[in-house]
Amino acid sequence: RRRPRLSLDAYERGVRERDRAVLAQAITLVESRDETDAALAQALLTRLLPATGGARRVGVTGVPGVGKSTFLDEFGMRLLSRGKRVAVLAIDPSSSISGGSILGDKTRMARLSLEKEAFIRPSPSGLTPGGIARRTRETMLLCEAAGFDVILVETVGVGQGETAVSDMVDFLLVLALPGAGDELQGIKKGVLELADAIGVNKCDGEGALRARTALHDLRAALRYLPRRRPSWKARALAVSGLTGEGLDALWDVVEEHRQALEASGELAAMRAEQQRSWMWSLITERLERWFRAHPEVERRLAGIEADVVAGRMTPPVAADELFAAFTAATRPP
Ligand code: GDP
Repeated sequence: RRRPRLSLDAYERGVRERDRAVLAQAITLVESRDETDAALAQALLTRLLPATGGARRVGVTGVPGVGKSTFLDEFGMRLLSRGKRVAVLAIDPSSSISGGSILGDKTRMARLSLEKEAFIRPSPSGLTPGGIARRTRETMLLCEAAGFDVILVETVGVGQGETAVSDMVDFLLVLALPGAGDELQGIKKGVLELADAIGVNKCDGEGALRARTALHDLRAALRYLPRRRPSWKARALAVSGLTGEGLDALWDVVEEHRQALEASGELAAMRAEQQRSWMWSLITERLERWFRAHPEVERRLAGIEADVVAGRMTPPVAADELFAAFTAATRPP
């Protein structure tokens, strides 16, 4: 059951005036696959664009069970107490990809969800891998126009989740766990290169000692990695979402990172590059949909794919054939 649309003016006014109900409806509008909604959503975003870009955009990633919800709840509460308004673009725990429980966000972030200056928006279904919604970028812009100072974008550390999120945030935090040995759990190859900070989580109680060992090894490993950015080297910290340990230090790191990238001009360059890559990902996505929908491509795709899989046809030849089918003028029957 969907609500009737508001007028463009009403959406704009509501978002700017920080009306949470209107913000939620505006997000529903940008997530809609309806064409009229999409046109209205783009008009709204164009109007709101001057009011965007002001937030700290922070991605938080980690495998299921690493402690993301617990962390976001505590981190969010601490940011509120610093006077920040916090939006969390969360993973819908009922979506299969998160591997989460079927409990809602009210229980996932029990305290934050009750706060007036916080806003939690779970991703809808129809996700790209990692729990990043198709419209997370637009949702982030709407939240910025609604005056949120910090936007935490949660993603699961599976598939391309980290890459997708690092393409839309300023700062990527990877949460990991100290392993049984000297291994760090929950960090895939290649993810370290994307991280601006790595939080070794659950560094409380019995986990404290193991966390310290893991941290030591991690810092050693980081020394051999190339710098994340010319003006920033990835940091490793011990944190606990349960006790709050390390979370204030973590926020200081986010601020330090901001200052470093602002001073070097990299923040503006990075955001500009993200805009460009966003445009291209939309173009690529549409081209692929157009290609696949072409009647001749549609007719031959399954057969050619089967030939490729069975090794009867090389992928370049297959691509050539499909492309030829796509570009050939449609012959009259
Ligand atoms: P998520 O799947 O990444 O969102 O992880 P959760 O936040 O749901 O946490 C998974 C489990 O780890 C739960 O049983 C939590 O109580 C526990 N947990 C989360 N954070 C911490 C922490 O900082 N310390 C300890 N000791 N346990 C934690």
